Amino acid sequence: MRCIGCGAIIQTENKDALGFLPAGALDKKIKNDEALYCQRCFRLRHYNEIAPTQLTDEDFLKLLKKVGQQDALIVNVVDIFDFNGSLIPNLHKLTGNNDLLMVANKRDVLPKSLKVGKLTAWLKEQAAKKGLKPQEILVTSAKNKADVIELMTAIEQYRRGRNVYVVGVTNVGKSTLINAIITQASGDQELITTSRFPGTTLDMIEIALDEKTSIIDTPGIIHRGQMAHYLEPEDLKYVSPRKEIKPKTYQLNAEQTLFFGGLARFDFINGERQGMTAYFDNEINIHRTKLDGATAFYEKHQGTLLSPALVATKLVRHEFSVSGKTDIVFSGLGWVRVPERARVAAWVPEGVDVEKRKALI
Ligand code: GDP
Repeated sequence: MRCIGCGAIIQTENKDALGFLPAGALDKKIKNDEALYCQRCFRLRHYNEIAPTQLTDEDFLKLLKKVGQQDALIVNVVDIFDFNGSLIPNLHKLTGNNDLLMVANKRDVLPKSLKVGKLTAWLKEQAAKKGLKPQEILVTSAKNKADVIELMTAIEQYRRGRNVYVVGVTNVGKSTLINAIITQASGDQELITTSRFPGTTLDMIEIALDEKTSIIDTPGIIHRGQMAHYLEPEDLKYVSPRKEIKPKTYQLNAEQTLFFGGLARFDFINGERQGMTAYFDNEINIHRTKLDGATAFYEKHQGTLLSPALVATKLVRHEFSVSGKTDIVFSGLGWVRVPERARVAAWVPEGVDVEKRKALI
């Protein structure tokens, strides 16, 4: 018996391990012929509580290696809003010569004016830099029915009668997509647990495609460089934008600083005055101040003027030279587009990745 939410095998012995359901609850559910959810998924669905997961990075690598040894189609779901933060390190090495379909999800978050063709070309270039050569890159929004149908058609085309493994780091929308596929294929509603908490899909879950083959949803690996791991649960909304981002352009002079709530900071150290554009969740408070004194300003206003506040960690500085049309990416939180030559610094919580890349927009 497996949990219908996360796929873990149901057990009644160890409340800290995967798939736990108290014996009494299990008996009752069987007697009443109710859907079986483990306690963890039940809580998640009903109270949005979270229990720690037990899948280690090592387990995940083993799992990917196993997938790589089979002749199957691999579907890698990534988050367009957090592209580099949502790539699986060394995926190309682990999955060998398997066919790869890349699904870039959360299209709805990016400005509508960005053309899909340009976006796909950019994604292809970025993927190639990481050694990934997908057969195709599909841009989706998990909540858009037309995109889900297109994804199902592409899977059918590329799998050529083989099994399909869906892989991705946590929080890219993998469960939401799989749910949409199930709903589309069977009319069943939301059988798999989805949530805003990173790391909530456990163990493998299998959905039959025909007599012999299936779609297998694998657990997401936790990418520690993602901002989501350094936030309080109530602040996760800032790293999972729900709506189209409204970019904000600031005409900045050298020696000016932008704060993104209390979560990150951007310094324009030197260069000509220019319009720098911030792509962040619309609800994040962006505050402009002088570079000189910015650290004292942060200490004074963190949690009040500069909110949401950062907890239990500090901001670390990363300096970059930019020669034009570059994004400085705060992994999972957003990015600043720098159009011209400049020297800048990005401050993020210790452990979060920062990156310089060719401008997306
Ligand atoms: P998983 O960990 O990869 O299985 O991710 P989930 O399916 O649990 O989704 C993580 C978060 O992203 C949830 O808050 C979803 O509602 C949200 N999400 C998933 N797909 C999309 C999408 O296409 N657009 C937007 N804006 N949010 C999405």
